[in-house]
Amino acid sequence: MSDCLFCKIASGEIPATLVHEDDACVAFNDISPQAPIHILIIPRVHIDSLDKTAAGDAALMGHLLTAAADIARKNGFAENGYRVVINTNADGGQTVFHLHVHLLAGRTFVFPPG
Ligand code: 5GP
Ligand code: ZN
Repeated sequence: MSDCLFCKIASGEIPATLVHEDDACVAFNDISPQAPIHILIIPRVHIDSLDKTAAGDAALMGHLLTAAADIARKNGFAENGYRVVINTNADGGQTVFHLHVHLLAGRTFVFPPG
């Protein structure tokens, strides 16, 4: 999508601090971190939100989650723990409409979130 912020980050048109990339996804530091570690993992293909996924996206969605787990292990915070969040649509708090997985770590989180 030509006017999508995260498509532009995935293509390199807008800079971000990348922590991982592969054929299917890109991971980069959130510009406004909500924890000492706050990484966003996005598919290279544009999907508006989790609400727009279907059965055909199952492998890609699984890839985003296993990428999150890999990033956590490689960066040494898997054992302490982390939180994975996918904000979806207005009530879910989604503000950027290119599907993304938040990977948060480096502090203790409460549940349920606010
Ligand atoms: P959402 O609220 O949609 O779940 O999450 C969007 C996230 O994108 C927010 O945590 C916000 O800080 C982050 N964000 C917004 N614009 C940019 C940007 O230009 N660069 C980066 N790295 N993160 C961004
Ligand atoms: Zn996009």
